[in-house]
Amino acid sequence: MGGSDDRKKMRATPEAEATANATGKHQPSEDEQLNRKLSRIKHKILVLSGKGGVGKSSVAAGLAVDLAKRGRKVAVLDIDIHGPSIPQLLGIAGERVTGTNESIVPVVSPAGVGVMSMGLLLQGSDEAVIWRGPLKYGVIKQFLRDVEWGDLDYLIVDSPPGTGDEPLSVAQLIKGVDGALLVTTPQTVSTNDVRRSIGFSRQLDLPILGVIENMSGFVCPSCGTKVDVFGSGGGASMAEEMDVPFLGSIPIDPEFVKACDAGSIGPFLAGGSPGATAFTKVAAKVIDRVESGSHKKTELTTADQAGATPNAGTDGKQAGEGRRIAVPVTGGKLSAHFGHCEEFAIFSAKETPGGTTAEAVEVLEAPPHEPGLLPAWLNERGVNMVIAGGMGSRAQQLFSQAGIEVMVGAASTDPKEIVQSYLDGTLVAGQNVCDH
Ligand code: ADP
Repeated sequence: MGGSDDRKKMRATPEAEATANATGKHQPSEDEQLNRKLSRIKHKILVLSGKGGVGKSSVAAGLAVDLAKRGRKVAVLDIDIHGPSIPQLLGIAGERVTGTNESIVPVVSPAGVGVMSMGLLLQGSDEAVIWRGPLKYGVIKQFLRDVEWGDLDYLIVDSPPGTGDEPLSVAQLIKGVDGALLVTTPQTVSTNDVRRSIGFSRQLDLPILGVIENMSGFVCPSCGTKVDVFGSGGGASMAEEMDVPFLGSIPIDPEFVKACDAGSIGPFLAGGSPGATAFTKVAAKVIDRVESGSHKKTELTTADQAGATPNAGTDGKQAGEGRRIAVPVTGGKLSAHFGHCEEFAIFSAKETPGGTTAEAVEVLEAPPHEPGLLPAWLNERGVNMVIAGGMGSRAQQLFSQAGIEVMVGAASTDPKEIVQSYLDGTLVAGQNVCDH
């Protein structure tokens, strides 16, 4: 293995605890240095998959580029030590990180994404790294602590497939990971492995942002016929079974392959192909979940169900901030028949000194009644919860797949009162008036 000159740029510091130097000045411990670095990064996302080749790195790179296009400051940490592909995907293959004994400067991609990867330290792309677990932990720690990440909105961590040393190290080193993003193809062999990744995340208390189904069918550009090369819907049904949000599907798109190989994901995303359109939608959902914090609430609710009142926080009130709640309305009151309401009243939950308050955001005319349309329609409008009088069980399933929580059985009264009483933890839910 070559590349020794480059690796010297990584500081070989011993595991020292906080000490006072000769001048009596406090020397921060390595953990303090790490935590200081990480405190300058608002959101940290860990991208996981059960299997290799499902498009995990492509999704991680695409998400970073999409975020940069939306004006977020973003960097990618590629911890796939044995098969780093992020430099290639982001158009910086062959480049090297620079730095001093104290710090490493990440390479910035043409799309404006900062990158740290083993691939930016090795001399040649054919080199192999043969390292065991403890060494990997140390290197990942150095990547996190010694790289000059600066102030970031997002750090996307691309992990190798499976539940090995690398994702475990990140989960242990980064306190407060916003969540794990799980990438799968529709095939059972892939979804089965992602179940293990979900179990891994739950064991480590990593919130789960959701599941993305990649390579979900192929639409022939000549005749428009859809061919489900790896099947379709496997990711959505696995997500439902495992009670985690489903964030959407991305089809097989030859344009994506070309863009990944050429390191030009930015132009691909702007190109409007089926893959690009689907990708942008999925990315918007991820951003909404992270920035609203709704995924953490979902995980909390799931955990709470083991021992506490369903849907209620420890003080009996709802964890509300970040929620965007839709109430179907007819004649100014909650509509008993969800699919046939006149309008949707949309509220957001705001934390105020007096508690969580329902704030009216907008009233939207309901779209024409069409089975299966409403979850996507409400989702596009940023809704992550629906409070209804009644809703059929199939519709409830579709909402759950779209990552929207549903509460049924509310009485037909003023929508704002309903939302406020839900946030106060006093909403009394009666019978689902439409459980067919
Ligand atoms: P992983 O990180 O899971 O091993 P990669 O991101 O390296 O997978 O992707 C594997 C291959 O699949 C790459 O050649 C990539 O370009 C291609 N790929 C990923 N997603 C798609 C897609 N939606 N359509 C077409 N090709 C894709």
